[in-house]
Amino acid sequence: MNLIILGAPGAGKGTLSDALVKELGIPKISTGDMLRQEVKDGSPLGLKAKEIMAKGELVSNEIINELLKNRIKKEDCKKGFMLDGFPRTINQAEELSKIMKELGYILDLVINLVVSENLVVKRLTNRRVCKKCGGNFNLFSSPSKKAGICDFCGGELYQRADDNETTIRNRLQVYAKDTQPLINFYANKGLLREIGAENGISEMIKAFNKIAAEQKNK
Ligand code: ADP
Ligand code: ZN
Repeated sequence: MNLIILGAPGAGKGTLSDALVKELGIPKISTGDMLRQEVKDGSPLGLKAKEIMAKGELVSNEIINELLKNRIKKEDCKKGFMLDGFPRTINQAEELSKIMKELGYILDLVINLVVSENLVVKRLTNRRVCKKCGGNFNLFSSPSKKAGICDFCGGELYQRADDNETTIRNRLQVYAKDTQPLINFYANKGLLREIGAENGISEMIKAFNKIAAEQKNK
């Protein structure tokens, strides 16, 4: 299955897609994770992206489309893949259609995670991420067993540079302007399904499995 997970920052795209990696056995492609890795490595791309990301703006379509294209061409995507944080603009969505067509892939499903703005701000300001494995925790809703330490790998937890209130508000504005139009874009193609993201991860997985089963029977 080839799918896209859409949703505002903090809706839980990362959490759901991590869980689905295990559930479906297909790779997750997160352009945000890929960019943060470039920043960490201090690569030329990372140096370009660092400030843009810290402000909550979007990295240029050109850079992102190239990054995505190189990733999706890899062997492991042949069995299916999940996109988290891409596409984020209509330009990226059109580019994705083109790339997938070239590779002979069909888009099966687009999941839109629906969540209120207040909850998003609360979630993001309390989010902590593992430096080593990227595992996600939340000081409120899903704290690690030991403060500051990852449950999965023992790595150190940190707060993302863009998870401060000013940048979060900006990310939400950018989302409303550039990314929200994708909801109609995919609804018009008959691919869009919604999941309420206020709920816990197990409810989200349940909802997903129901949608995926219906999709198969179509
Ligand atoms: P979130 O969805 O929580 O805002 P991500 O980890 O998906 O965070 O992305 C973090 C930042 O990386 C974005 O604010 C943006 O600067 C950059 N980024 C990630 N994906 C894209 C994309 N598809 N197009 C442009 N910029 C992107
Ligand atoms: Zn970890």
